[in-house]
Amino acid sequence: MTARILVVDDIQTNRRLLEGRLSAEYFEVATAASGEDCLRLAREFAPDLILLDVMMPGMNGYDVCRRLKGDAATAHIPVVMITALDQREERLSGLQAGADEFLTKPVDDVALFARVRSLLRLKLVMDELRQRQERVAEGEAPPAHEPAPEGSAQVVVAAGDDRTAQRLAAKLPSYVKARAFGDPAAATAAAREGADMVLIDLTSAKFDGLRVVARIRSEAASRNIPILAVIDADNAQAMVRALDMGVNDVVCRPIDAGEIAARTATQLRRKRYADQLRDRLDESLEMAFTDALTGLPNRRYVMARLREGLEGLDRDGEAVSVAVLDIDRFKQINDTYGHQAGDRVLQGMAERMGAALRAADVAGRFGGEEFLIVMRGADEAAALEAAERVRAALEARPFILRETGEMLTVTLSAGVAQAAPGETAEALIARADAALYEAKAAGRNRVMADRKKAA
Ligand code: GH3
Ligand code: MG
Ligand code: MG
Repeated sequence: MTARILVVDDIQTNRRLLEGRLSAEYFEVATAASGEDCLRLAREFAPDLILLDVMMPGMNGYDVCRRLKGDAATAHIPVVMITALDQREERLSGLQAGADEFLTKPVDDVALFARVRSLLRLKLVMDELRQRQERVAEGEAPPAHEPAPEGSAQVVVAAGDDRTAQRLAAKLPSYVKARAFGDPAAATAAAREGADMVLIDLTSAKFDGLRVVARIRSEAASRNIPILAVIDADNAQAMVRALDMGVNDVVCRPIDAGEIAARTATQLRRKRYADQLRDRLDESLEMAFTDALTGLPNRRYVMARLREGLEGLDRDGEAVSVAVLDIDRFKQINDTYGHQAGDRVLQGMAERMGAALRAADVAGRFGGEEFLIVMRGADEAAALEAAERVRAALEARPFILRETGEMLTVTLSAGVAQAAPGETAEALIARADAALYEAKAAGRNRVMADRKKAA
């Protein structure tokens, strides 16, 4: 996995050293000698990760980190702070400033690359979500980082026995709801049912925590849950393995309450951010493919399904037919009873159509008072039958006008065409349209098939 890394240090030797080691691993590296340079390059170079020295004249690392995390353009870039001493106070200030990880000088290669890989994996997922979101809802800014959620967070604690699990759970900040499990199967089941984080003990010889990590990561229902692992202090090898297995962060024994609180808050914040991105993506996808008035799939969506059907025909010879339906004298309904009554007729038409079709048929609003049904596996005769069912259903159930209580019978005309191999969606719909035109000309309230076959 290659990536762009920004190295920030006021001392040139340190910059050179890190740059050399990272370049040797094929990372693309840029360097900054001050906090100001870092903020500028964070935007211009668009790094995937920032290695940030804490002790710098002028703006120190904490200030730089706070500024990076406060700016929507750079808030998503993971920051690893490089501290001279492994001191509790420094780490806590860093975590509070929004730092994602720490490394102590002199920086050990194994630890460095494990951290870099783990954070880059996370960023890759986040970037992908963000890009998909942006493609759908162009111009809309992603949600800003928000403070740690209170109260609602569910944490699953997994250890080799109940007592250890309960003792670990007691170390968590009081605002999370922790459930402790001394049994691996119960812990994975609980994670699958839904959790905002898993805290797992990797320090016990009789409990294979990494296996639990692997299980959680391999199942769709629990894949996106952040995992915080407990390891023994100075066990760099355990840390590297844990991170490579998909653990998001580690905390060392003996456990410091302030540090586990800060790391938990970071994981919960990220999870919430990713969930928000995912939800908004689902929502915008739905909006992009649904007609707001009727709730039916829109033109874009049914056209995409039709193209799939045509590919199926060319590949496997599976029949595909379309019906274009158009409400008769709809303009008159609008003119006589008002636009809102017209809208309700369109909604009622959508309902009646849905009830009359097979689940496999895709029916959408094609525009105005026109609807398109795509029927895979249906030849012309079957498609005629389906369209006729919709026509009959509409005619059979009159609308009752809200204003006057008057009964209004609405009818439709439809044209049907079966696709010929190699035919385009546009050509097929043009043939169905021609049949529709004939149905209108022949007196409306009827379904007709295209008479001239595809060229
Ligand atoms: P025909 O039987 O030949 O199809 O006649 P028609 O009146 O149904 O056809 P025409 O295409 O002349 O009129 C369609 C009308 O549908 C015109 C337009 O104002 C109306 N319309 C289009 N979209 C909507 C909508 O979302 N709501 C309402 N209420 N009316 C709409
Ligand atoms: Mg029309
Ligand atoms: Mg019409």
